[in-house]
Amino acid sequence: NPSLSRFLVVFAVSGGGLVAYSEANIQTGGKIDELPEAGNEKKRVVVLGTGWAGTSFLKNLKNPSYDIQVISPRNYFAFTPLLPSVTVGTVEARSVVEPIRNIVKKKNVNVDYWEAECYRIDAKNKKIYCRSSQDDKDEFVVDYDYLVVAMGARVNTFNTPGVEENCHYLKEVEDAQKIRRTVIDCFEKASLPNLSEDEKKRVLQFVVVGGGPTGVEFAAELHDFVSEDLVKLYPSVKDLVKITLLEATDHILNMFDKRITTFAEEKFHRDGIDLKTGEMVVKVSEKEISTKVIKTGEVSTIPYGMAVWSTGIATRPVIMDFMKQIGQANRRVLATDEWLRVEGTNSIYALGDCATINQRKVMEDISAIFQKADKDNSGTLTVKEFQEALDDICDRYPQVQLYLKNKQMSSLVDLLTESKGDVAKESIELNVEEFKSALSQVDSQMKNLPATAQVAAQQGSYLADCFNRMEECTKNPEGPLRFRESGRHRFRPFRYKHLGQFAPLGGEQTAAQLPGDWVSIGQSSQWLWYSVYASKQVSWRTRSLVVSDWVRRFIFGRDSSQI
Ligand code: FAD
Repeated sequence: NPSLSRFLVVFAVSGGGLVAYSEANIQTGGKIDELPEAGNEKKRVVVLGTGWAGTSFLKNLKNPSYDIQVISPRNYFAFTPLLPSVTVGTVEARSVVEPIRNIVKKKNVNVDYWEAECYRIDAKNKKIYCRSSQDDKDEFVVDYDYLVVAMGARVNTFNTPGVEENCHYLKEVEDAQKIRRTVIDCFEKASLPNLSEDEKKRVLQFVVVGGGPTGVEFAAELHDFVSEDLVKLYPSVKDLVKITLLEATDHILNMFDKRITTFAEEKFHRDGIDLKTGEMVVKVSEKEISTKVIKTGEVSTIPYGMAVWSTGIATRPVIMDFMKQIGQANRRVLATDEWLRVEGTNSIYALGDCATINQRKVMEDISAIFQKADKDNSGTLTVKEFQEALDDICDRYPQVQLYLKNKQMSSLVDLLTESKGDVAKESIELNVEEFKSALSQVDSQMKNLPATAQVAAQQGSYLADCFNRMEECTKNPEGPLRFRESGRHRFRPFRYKHLGQFAPLGGEQTAAQLPGDWVSIGQSSQWLWYSVYASKQVSWRTRSLVVSDWVRRFIFGRDSSQI
């Protein structure tokens, strides 16, 4: 089976000439070295991170008047949607990564890359404190004029005891490689002659925690690997294998259309994947996972051989520290305005998984749209006005549209007019305040953009576009700058365009949810998935590697060597 992945990913490919490439002249030693300032009138832009957001920013930046310095512990970009495929060898690890130096070298922009992690952002003095990723862990400081924070997020364990020590994560390429080795280890171990039947069963019990897209994709990939390849190689233990998927809420794939959720759950039942919903993990020990049924409080244990933890993301400590400095200590995620500028700063931008656009601003915007629609200031809107205002909101905030759809509230107007009896719909007046308060009560999912590559890549290309035009706008302040009057920024605010999402479910079956509430499930969506993911590869090199991996898998199956 081909690999699994979930969302349509936007990755604009930018052109470019030659890059002036220079290595940083960093002295090593015990002290923290301060790098020289740019030394010319070029503004120095420091980019933290080479993931979806950072790479999209770098690819789309065309303005040669900046001195760009990229700092990341990872000297490559990883196509994360294919990581579940890497865990079982449907696609090789090297096929989904591209060196960042390859990506930026074609540009006519001056870009330096340093393999290091930032451990402190000093917003007051515009300095970044970094530590080399090499064994020596040398430290150095970099000054910036503009800072682009695109550091992504860390795995969220919800402080569950034992998770860090005993579970695998599926976040980085190394995680996927480790999982691949561990799966084979489990099969080899279970095949040893000295193991009891119970011990064999335990070793071949695979537990996936989290029924979101990543957990579901991984469970489906693992099932395909076992049923298509491993049963032939390990016939003596094939009947002992069990895959369990644990999800704390009542359904898996909550963010998808109900039809997709139902199809996925039914397919997993047919495939023999043990789906346990409404159960949360309370503790993980070396050989057992303790779970609690949320409704009854009943606790039970599952002996396991390998567990993969995939329950969402949390803020990195370095960002938490930064948030304290800028007065955002009471927030869980770094907040930006709609221009992706970090609130409380004037030259720091944050994008991708490490930040969120301030929800308060979104609610204010929604209120403003209603106020504008209420032309006579009566506090009520006609059904037509109401519908227009709602359409306007959905246009500006696709996440609101998604929320209304997923909660099956697309006929919200019908719902609100229902109680008015037989009165003709056109003459009904709806109370603005009532609706606003209903909107503000719905959970934050409505207002937050999803933490996806699609969002990160769009934000990266939006910000690059702002930087490309920044100089021109400064020189020609009378130009067509639509938002100039706000006095805060010269560009249009960021608007996310949702292009749809995939939920591959194994066995050549994929569910696709595209804009316009279009849902398709089956093999045709699987081919759509192949096409989209092949076309969205970051380079022709990775594109050809990924496609040849798929072909290899079709012909020869997956490789189960332990390397
Ligand atoms: P990342 O891509 O995580 O990049 C963060 C970067 O920051 C990395 O280069 C990292 O090395 C660097 N960094 C970390 N710490 C520091 C530091 N201290 N200093 C400097 N740099 C640092 N999304 C989709 O839209 N569709 C999918 O199908 C999909 N599938 C996924 C499957 C998996 C297995 C996973 C894990 C995620 C998937 N996602 C998918 C989500 C998507 O990968 C993320 O939303 C996206 O990677 C976020 O981009 P980012 O640039 O914010 O962060």
